[in-house]
Amino acid sequence: MRLFVYGGRGGWGYGLGVKRAEKAERILGILEELYPRPPVPLDHADSFQLLIAVLLSAQTTDARVNLVTPALFEAAPGPREMAELAVDEIHDFIRTCGLAPAKAKNISKLAKIVCAEHGGDVPRTFEELEALPGVGHKTASVVMAQAFGVPAFPVDTHIHRLAARWGLSNGTTVEKTERDLKALFPREKWNNLHLQIIFFGREYCPARGHDLATCRICGWAATKKRMREEARS
Ligand code: SF4
Repeated sequence: MRLFVYGGRGGWGYGLGVKRAEKAERILGILEELYPRPPVPLDHADSFQLLIAVLLSAQTTDARVNLVTPALFEAAPGPREMAELAVDEIHDFIRTCGLAPAKAKNISKLAKIVCAEHGGDVPRTFEELEALPGVGHKTASVVMAQAFGVPAFPVDTHIHRLAARWGLSNGTTVEKTERDLKALFPREKWNNLHLQIIFFGREYCPARGHDLATCRICGWAATKKRMREEARS
């Protein structure tokens, strides 16, 4: 079995036996150093536009969403204008995003509900947000965190996978991973950490060809199981 020597905050050690809490602290230090002020990747002017942008980002890259939203938000900057657009018109603006037909219907319905039931303001509770069409817990978490500054830990498939690779969670579901990450990291760090982990994954984690020994985090934090797998490959 291979052992990986690591260097970092707090000295030198070995991949085996590093406790979850210690891993979390070291990972937080590395991510804070790499991304001290992570920007919000989706362009928006207010909470309604952020909600629409996050909804559009399902199975679509942030870059693609940022390409389509300027024209959409020029035509319909708020819920009242959006509610007046026909579903087909919304679809024309977002047609290059994945799942565009379903998203166009959801955006139209959502805008009407925000106007009719919330006085034109995006609701500020998880329950109300998750009751909107096309809005799941992850989307609601992003809006709560990035629009309203409420501590949340949106966990998408990328964060779910990295949390498992780093041995921070053995959760089989994103819900379990969210609970584990919330228990490991200070509440005031959650909102930035979600972005910092995403940025790290995008910058450093290739789809294939991982070299654990040289990786800044997996070099010491990877699970024993993953180290064995990589050593065999
Ligand atoms: S080895 Fe490094 S690059 Fe690969 S998943 Fe782990 S953190 Fe990402």
